[in-house]
Amino acid sequence: MPERVTPFEATELVRARRSVGDFELTICTDGTFLLDGGAMFGVVPKTLWQKRIAADASNRIVLGLNTAVVRTGRQTVVIETGVGNKQTAKMRDIHQNQELLPASLAAAGVKPDEVDVVINTHLHFDHCGWNTTLHADGSVTPTFKNARYFAHAGEVAHGRLQLERDRVSYLAPNYEPLIESGQMTLLDDAAVLAGREICEGIRVEMFPGHTAHLMGVHIEPPRRVESRPGGGVGPHACYISDLIPTAHHVEPTGVMGYDLDPLGCIEERKRFYQRAIPEEWLVLFTHDHDTPMARVAVNEKGKPVAVLPKGCSSTH
Ligand SMILES: [Zn+2]
Repeated sequence: MPERVTPFEATELVRARRSVGDFELTICTDGTFLLDGGAMFGVVPKTLWQKRIAADASNRIVLGLNTAVVRTGRQTVVIETGVGNKQTAKMRDIHQNQELLPASLAAAGVKPDEVDVVINTHLHFDHCGWNTTLHADGSVTPTFKNARYFAHAGEVAHGRLQLERDRVSYLAPNYEPLIESGQMTLLDDAAVLAGREICEGIRVEMFPGHTAHLMGVHIEPPRRVESRPGGGVGPHACYISDLIPTAHHVEPTGVMGYDLDPLGCIEERKRFYQRAIPEEWLVLFTHDHDTPMARVAVNEKGKPVAVLPKGCSSTH
């Protein structure tokens, strides 16, 4: 694997596109970034994970930064906004990130000003970086000026504590200006548990473990009554964020070193599979550059495995 990630071809800027019921789902990208392979695979031995992902000389692996864009017919919804352009030179050197989300959205035909809703599953730097844009004069403005932003209040409270364990992950310019201006709505547990939709067909659910207030995002288009006379389950996609960051993380016990509560993550993965597997949800992976979405099935040994969905128009 090269030390430096090769520049993207324009055709690689849109990672996948497909319909979910009447909704159009597009996976855009902020590019790739590098993280320590050991931290990404927790207690899984390198001898096992390196069969699936190659590490560079510094033990770093390439990860994706996937933004899901959902066009519901009424609204344009953006889930996660990548690393953004506020990294210091030192952090850019470590992560080798490329700040590609604006180009990716343009390649997908998504204008920032037409985005109605932005959802952050949590407020780590690699999930909300393009919430705002840093300009040459040092000012920071909302990237999606007409959007209402949504995040969990518990994430903001945790970020403000600036704990030594994870303060590097919480960069105030990614969210504080939006809170100050009133453009970001902060949800609490009660609001999430109430299950109200953020907009038609888009709902969040708590999946604590990676952080205490991590949210997954359900994409469930309203069902057309005439299309399913016998009932049954409608099309359903779920952006599960850092609960299951890549298709290599579907095994419940293979949780990350970054997770604040690894045992909680294991239980939450199992709880997620109780519906995601039988109902054949399309699972969207936040950090898998090559496999941004898959269904999860159970193999002959009874273990969850990622399977590429039928009709997946992934560009790879
Ligand atoms: Zn992440």
